[in-house]
Amino acid sequence: MKSIYWFRNDLRLNDNLSLNIALQESDEILFVYVHDIENEKNCSWGFKKMSEHRKLFLSQGLQDLKKELNKFGHSLNEYIEDSVNILNMLVKKYQINSIFCESILAVDELKKVKVLKDMNINVNQIWQSSLYIQEQLPFSLEELPDVFSNFRKLIEIKGIKPNKPKKITKEIFNINSITDNQSIILKVNSTNYKKSSFPISNQEFRGGEKSGVSYLIDYFETDKPKIYKETRNQLMGQNFSTKFSPWLAMGYISARQIFFYLKKYEDKVIKNESTYWIFFELLWRDYFRFSMIKNREKIFYITDLNSSQKNINHDDNKFKLWTEGKTQNNFINAGMNELKQTGFLSNRMRQIVASYLVNDLACDWRAGAAWFESQLIDYDIYSNLGNWLYISGFGADPRGGRYFNIEKQKKTYDPNSTYQDFWH
Ligand SMILES: Cc1cc2nc3c(=O)[nH]c(=O)nc-3n(C[C@H](O)[C@H](O)[C@H](O)COP(=O)(O)OP(=O)(O)OC[C@H]3O[C@@H](n4cnc5c(N)ncnc54)[C@H](O)[C@@H]3O)c2cc1C
Repeated sequence: MKSIYWFRNDLRLNDNLSLNIALQESDEILFVYVHDIENEKNCSWGFKKMSEHRKLFLSQGLQDLKKELNKFGHSLNEYIEDSVNILNMLVKKYQINSIFCESILAVDELKKVKVLKDMNINVNQIWQSSLYIQEQLPFSLEELPDVFSNFRKLIEIKGIKPNKPKKITKEIFNINSITDNQSIILKVNSTNYKKSSFPISNQEFRGGEKSGVSYLIDYFETDKPKIYKETRNQLMGQNFSTKFSPWLAMGYISARQIFFYLKKYEDKVIKNESTYWIFFELLWRDYFRFSMIKNREKIFYITDLNSSQKNINHDDNKFKLWTEGKTQNNFINAGMNELKQTGFLSNRMRQIVASYLVNDLACDWRAGAAWFESQLIDYDIYSNLGNWLYISGFGADPRGGRYFNIEKQKKTYDPNSTYQDFWH
């Protein structure tokens, strides 16, 4: 059988379940990555969907993936195109029987796969981006609790264990692969990220499976995991939280791999509230994934997920000043400057600037989510929308949104204005 393996947010060879299936079921594979031209267009809020920061982190990872595939005698074929058009063209050109890919269960991504299927193209999508797969959940997705802690308790009471990460299957050695002469290489110029908490211009923080896995191993060889809970709310530097999210978002590493190293650390070094909290945060990540699968396009409605009407008083000028770090609040401006200059922001700062936009400026959360999508190097559709819905009160949580008092947050997390002055 001749297949295309369509890499999406799973840019790794190991613990890639859908890639393993493709390798086992095919005789010949065309390995493909598409830079969708959608990302070059402006979104409905008037700015590019993908910043240079994410492009750089992505291009680093694609170089790495290419090298890894080359070691097995294969090539990665890269295109800047409309995903559907190029895949359709390649299916015809190489008489492909099937496309294999990881499944992304978000509205636009599902639409693309539907169009391919409507063209009579066989698309095999395999879900793999969470810690737990749907079949392991002790309830159906329709019964997914509206509140995170109920979801967490149900998982914990049953003691469900995530599946062990899998190595790349040995078929990678035997498979024939196709090199397409129309494939391109996306070149992105690197700038200096010295000030960033996630400096992608440093070797250690480069995009790719190789640096992601080596960062993961190194992280669990330090003392950072045992003080994670006490430090995770800090705002600056490389040491305050795990920094796994950019690698996870591109699929350079998987949540199961993190869990595997976390357990090893707990067995060999220490198991405490901090190590538990890393697992706890990965559960949040899963919760937002399953919540999106349950709610699909309802997420973008003007009502909340329980169909209650909400007031939005969006002011485009206020929104623009927020994106540019030119609001009347210098603490918020510092956060927005950091985001724009580096593509990264601590979780605490994300919560603070998001709350300011929706609660203090009364702007539309969807505009904020679009700006985060454009800027973040760890942009992940499920976590981004899930967190925005949670803070704005547009999610299913019956307790409503979360209001962060900016002055109080500043006093607690930046009492000496170190952060504010750094990103002024
Ligand atoms: C408004 C808003 C938007 C966000 N958008 C994104 C996004 O696009 N992509 C993204 O990966 N995260 C997003 N987050 C969640 C969180 O801020 C980041 O995952 C975290 O800051 C990444 O840093 P870390 O890996 O050091 O996290 P750590 O604190 O070390 O956490 C470990 C891992 O747990 C997961 N995690 C932690 N907090 C959350 C959370 N609140 N929601 C979901 N998963 C979490 C992440 O995978 C993270 O890598 C957003 C949060 C907010 C408030």
